[in-house]
Amino acid sequence: MGVEGCLSIPGYLGEVERHAWVVVQGLDRRGKRWRKKVEGFLARVFQHEIDHTNGILYIDRLISPDRFWKEEDFEGEELLV
Ligand SMILES: [Zn+2]
Repeated sequence: MGVEGCLSIPGYLGEVERHAWVVVQGLDRRGKRWRKKVEGFLARVFQHEIDHTNGILYIDRLISPDRFWKEEDFEGEELLV
C-alpha cells in the first residue's frame, strides 16, 4: 500500500495498492522503441500516470473510502506521488 496525491485533486491524499514492479514500454523522442522493468516508487509513478491516460484517477483505486484524507488531516505515511 502507499499514499498518493495528485494535482488533479489538490489538497487530498488516498491510500492505493499498486504492483511492486511493472514493465513499461514506449517510444523515445526519435521514435525508437524502449522497454524497461521498473520497481518501487518509479513503478508507482508509472501506474499512476498511465492510469491518467485511461481516464482513471487514484481515487478510483482507493483501498477503502475511509483511506482518503484532506492533506491537513493526514498524519503518518510519506506522500508517494
Ligand atoms: Zn495524478
